[in-house]
Amino acid sequence: MKILVINAGSSSIKFKLVEQQDLSTIVAGIIECIGTPDCKISCHIYKAGEINAKQEEAHLLSSYREGFELLIKYLFKRPFIKDPGHLAAIGHRVVHGGEQFKQSALITEPVIEAIKKNIPLAPIHNPVSLTGINVFLEMFPEIPQVAIFDTAFHQTMPAKAFRYPLPEQLYTEYRIRRYGFHGTSHQYAANCAAELLCKPLSKLNLITLHLGNGASAAAIKSGRSIDTSMGLTPLEGLMMGARSGDIDPAIIFYMTHFSGYGYEKIERLLNQESGLLGVCGSNDLREIERLIKQGDERAILAIDMYCYRIKKYIGAYFAILGGLDGLVFTAGVGENSSIVRLQVCQGLEHFGICINPEKNSEEINSATEIQSDSSTVKILVIPADEELEIARQTLACLHNG
Ligand code: AMP
Repeated sequence: MKILVINAGSSSIKFKLVEQQDLSTIVAGIIECIGTPDCKISCHIYKAGEINAKQEEAHLLSSYREGFELLIKYLFKRPFIKDPGHLAAIGHRVVHGGEQFKQSALITEPVIEAIKKNIPLAPIHNPVSLTGINVFLEMFPEIPQVAIFDTAFHQTMPAKAFRYPLPEQLYTEYRIRRYGFHGTSHQYAANCAAELLCKPLSKLNLITLHLGNGASAAAIKSGRSIDTSMGLTPLEGLMMGARSGDIDPAIIFYMTHFSGYGYEKIERLLNQESGLLGVCGSNDLREIERLIKQGDERAILAIDMYCYRIKKYIGAYFAILGGLDGLVFTAGVGENSSIVRLQVCQGLEHFGICINPEKNSEEINSATEIQSDSSTVKILVIPADEELEIARQTLACLHNG
């Protein structure tokens, strides 16, 4: 039996088909640029844990529904799945579970209604997930589907962490609070850290840094998230590829008064034109590292700001955790940029965070420790695998009924 994982984003559908028995990958891929002439499906086909073949096909798709239909055709045509009866379950990443979902949920009519109710909190992502859920429901009503919420892991935050210092009515009537995102990734990184350190997660205090195009930090006390940097939306917190992260909210009023920008323009500016991109003209760390080597001052400033802001969160989370066992780097930048890891850790020696520059600069392909012998805090690099975590949680949900 097999499990299909669906991770639908704002312009793509990532998928992974795994064996139920050992969660080994059969095929993984992405349908990207939906609605544009560049739309294509790209896949890696696996054999004995290794990529055995690559495939890419261009398709003109005008909607996510067509994307999901194409995916189903693709999986059954080859056939990676010979018969729908061989599919044990489908696990969907759902961005916003609001306050209702503290863990993954078997998809039923009330769960669908709850995902719909949370559309105002994730207007781009939740509708895409609902489309996927509905397409599979229409074609294979007998196959169980599971929703894995990006917000669920952070539902353990106490009110003092998740409430904003705003009038109570904004929370009770409009549900304005910090929810946090990247929960599946933080949870996966925390579980891997516990495995690597040979300790139960419930006995560990960790700071996990998901540094990808989007970026967030989480403070994990005794295995539970007690604070995280993203808020009501994924705009708050760390400086990101193209998102500003924390800024003075009065900048928005100032801009509307003095620049004549409307709210839509400001929203786009903060979500798509800020962060690393806004400061130095690129949101790709590979390009920024190249520019730094050429002495580009804007690129140097962008990385300085990026790392400085991460450092401030580490300091804050160190204080609220009251003791730290591990600092975890994950996602595209966290896994690949030794420059960012080094710059983030430099100066944190008095917290017991001492990086080993040689280990840090080696190529890292699996969960690895990069602290020096004198470090009291373990520094870990953990390659992100949200799809594997989704498959694990889908399986757990099936077993729990
Ligand atoms: P993610 O959102 O986790 O896929 O991360 C994407 C980001 O990771 C890219 O925008 C790059 O900034 C960064 N990245 C990917 N590969 C590398 C690399 N080899 N070196 C430095 N940064 C990288």
